[in-house]
Amino acid sequence: MFTQPHTKQMREEFLKQNKDKDHVILLGDDYPVILSAPHGVNQWRDGRDKYCEPGTINTVLHLHKMCNCPAILKTKNNHDDANWDEVSSYKTALFKFIKDHKIKYVLDIHSLAASRTCDVNLGVWGGKLVANNNKLYRKLVQSLCDAGFNVYLDEPFNGGGRTISASVKKEFGDSVWAIQIELNSKIIWHKRGFEKYKKLLDVLATFIVEL
Ligand SMILES: [Zn+2]
Repeated sequence: MFTQPHTKQMREEFLKQNKDKDHVILLGDDYPVILSAPHGVNQWRDGRDKYCEPGTINTVLHLHKMCNCPAILKTKNNHDDANWDEVSSYKTALFKFIKDHKIKYVLDIHSLAASRTCDVNLGVWGGKLVANNNKLYRKLVQSLCDAGFNVYLDEPFNGGGRTISASVKKEFGDSVWAIQIELNSKIIWHKRGFEKYKKLLDVLATFIVEL
């Protein structure tokens, strides 16, 4: 059943099952893509705790179920931030998976505060993250816009610096296409926008299976 309480429960059960692990990799069919959710549990940055982006775990779990594509999810706060620290076991595991499975696309899923005006913010670091295939990037933007979502590019977050997406780009260069996808938590977590959630998942799932 696809309801908001069911989706919340899905996240809770997943975290309970994996409470002792730093992160979990879910295997899938032989896809050239991996989904990533580094902020689904609280992080530690600059000496303080940062509240998690809870909806990113259920979003990646739903997409993994819908497409059977591989995924990596942070499952424990080890006083770290996989989207900020230069080195982390999450990033090391992701890099190894990319190498071992010849991954060509990384979709790094995050969420925006519900007060943000956009539905989706795609971070491409001024185009650097997707420069090896701009056509694919335009396709993603177009399919989100066609489905009625309000999309901001590189605003408020551009996916650069020490993020997962930028780190992947620095490590693998043009052989990997990476993007930071920030989804508004009013759609992927809160009740008030939940009616749009299934549509958003359908757009992303269609994009993934066509990769
Ligand atoms: Zn984040």
